[in-house]
Amino acid sequence: MKANIRHKGKTRVVVIGGGLGGLRLMKALKGCGMQVVLVDKNNYHQFPPLIYQVASAGLEPSSISFPFRKILQGREDVYFRMGEVQSIDADEKVLQTSFGKLYYDYLVIAAGATTNFFGNDHIAADALPMKTVMDGMNLRNTILSNMERAEVETDEETLQSLLTVAVVGGGPSGVEIAGALAEMKRTIAPRDYPDIDTSKIRIVLVNSDVRLLKSMDEASSVRAERDLREMGVEVMARTRVADYRDGVLHMEDGSTLAAKTVIWVAGVRANRIASTPEMTLGAGGRIVTDTCLRVKGMNDVFAIGDVSIVDGDQDYPHGHPQLAQVAMQQADCVAKTIRLRASSKQGAGNVNDLVFHYKDLGTMATIGRRKAVAEIGRLKFGGNTAWLLWLVVHLRSLLGVRNKIVVLINWMWNYFNYRNSLRLIFRNDEK
Ligand SMILES: Cc1cc2nc3c(=O)[nH]c(=O)nc-3n(C[C@H](O)[C@H](O)[C@H](O)COP(=O)(O)OP(=O)(O)OC[C@H]3O[C@@H](n4cnc5c(N)ncnc54)[C@H](O)[C@@H]3O)c2cc1C
Repeated sequence: MKANIRHKGKTRVVVIGGGLGGLRLMKALKGCGMQVVLVDKNNYHQFPPLIYQVASAGLEPSSISFPFRKILQGREDVYFRMGEVQSIDADEKVLQTSFGKLYYDYLVIAAGATTNFFGNDHIAADALPMKTVMDGMNLRNTILSNMERAEVETDEETLQSLLTVAVVGGGPSGVEIAGALAEMKRTIAPRDYPDIDTSKIRIVLVNSDVRLLKSMDEASSVRAERDLREMGVEVMARTRVADYRDGVLHMEDGSTLAAKTVIWVAGVRANRIASTPEMTLGAGGRIVTDTCLRVKGMNDVFAIGDVSIVDGDQDYPHGHPQLAQVAMQQADCVAKTIRLRASSKQGAGNVNDLVFHYKDLGTMATIGRRKAVAEIGRLKFGGNTAWLLWLVVHLRSLLGVRNKIVVLINWMWNYFNYRNSLRLIFRNDEK
């Protein structure tokens, strides 16, 4: 196999990963006069902030995904190759990939992060992550399949565990999916499953910390917990999961919870993209970069987004949060550096390399209809205004006009009558 890209004598930039950071970089390099190659293991870009709505059957997967080939269509000397990077030879400046060798002049690693099960094989085998669109589909199938099984279950104990969903992790993802499931319980379950006593459905949010949304202000945490409780979510604070075996969650304090569906959103670790002895890995396996986002110990290699951590930023001594805005602003920074280097024909360590300064544009988390929390600068607010702002920001961030329209129609339709028809179980029976 071969990459099948002619070198044409131009400077070549290779980007590993077309997520929020990688794709922004591709945009920022538009018209740069260099050859740009994007490598991703999928043939589509996905929008993680709305995966929980796929999991709770509120949106179809294709509404939050977009094919790379369509995005990059018509751009001169820009290539997409689907595949995985297996190793980086920084001396020879060549990647070994699943489709052969790929040479680079500049390399940007933007491979994101994956679910962290903290080395527990039982949890990794049986709990359900919510990191990708495929995870979202899998979750939707599991939740709906368990409801179907519950309808015909005669054993009381098994029935209760089929009707119990545990969400482990009290960050924004945990809060969002717990809220969405509580709404499903209230509005959809009684209509779709009239023969189940839906009051028995339990949504339990297990959180090791004393408060939810730890990265936000305490007032937002209190508000989120209050809203969730009002919606019927049971919040277990200061509770750390030790294991998940045979459909039972075991907590460190010795208590147990029988739940056939366990959604694991308790942590992430950087995607390990290749065997690279030169790299230094920091907390969560993140590739350590300097403040110009250059990978330490490697020339002409940058890393951005969730996969990396900046060492030396006084304002963020423990690294930047793993958020969309960080990845996108880092992409802009690296694109400028590469353009500068290419135009001045200077190499690694160029004094003109830009130092990354993160501009915090705010944080938001949605809880349910007309319920959200937002923090923008010193402004901290919740309820209707935060929820509307959340809708606008996420709709704007989605790629593609069609996706925006489909999502907007879905949201409006659901808002007024909760009657979408996405509650389908698609699975491969041969597996
Ligand atoms: C469920 C969920 C909800 C979130 N909600 C929010 C939110 O509301 N607000 C917010 O700011 N942030 C949110 N985030 C975080 C945000 O999505 C990430 O910070 C952001 O996507 C990071 O961008 P990235 O480019 O580093 O990685 P990603 O966007 O994750 O992209 C990584 C890309 O690399 C590709 N890749 C991975 N490994 C390889 C490989 N070996 N070879 C080739 N390609 C590879 C992947 O296919 C993917 O396309 C959420 C994340 C999740 C999972």
